[in-house]
Amino acid sequence: MNPYHIVVIDDEKAMEMLFNAFFDKELSRGEIKITYLEEPSNFFDILAEEDVRLVMSDINMPIMNGYDFLDKIQEQKPDIPVYMISAYGGKDHIERAMQKGATGFFVKPFDFDVIKTQIREQMKSA
Ligand SMILES: [Mg+2]
Repeated sequence: MNPYHIVVIDDEKAMEMLFNAFFDKELSRGEIKITYLEEPSNFFDILAEEDVRLVMSDINMPIMNGYDFLDKIQEQKPDIPVYMISAYGGKDHIERAMQKGATGFFVKPFDFDVIKTQIREQMKSA
């Protein structure tokens, strides 16, 4: 079975280390695969070639912000669950993201157990 492909988009390079450490077992067992991008513009090239199952995207990024990215992905591939990951977890941010079609919102610093539970749910329903 192909690994469940997750794309994490965040201009904070530390995210890669955090996710790799937390999903160490799942990655080494080949259950999941994670692609890291520092900004969303290459995402649609990856989407054209790979079976991306779930996306986690930062909101504050220099070239394209997470809200514009959400609009774009909703236009092109609305069936992929997109979770927003942001240090700004205010009600306005969360409501705006959900209105734009986000599946969920994780506030930094993360509770990775909550993220893992959500991903497991998505993997089951996929
Ligand atoms: Mg950022």
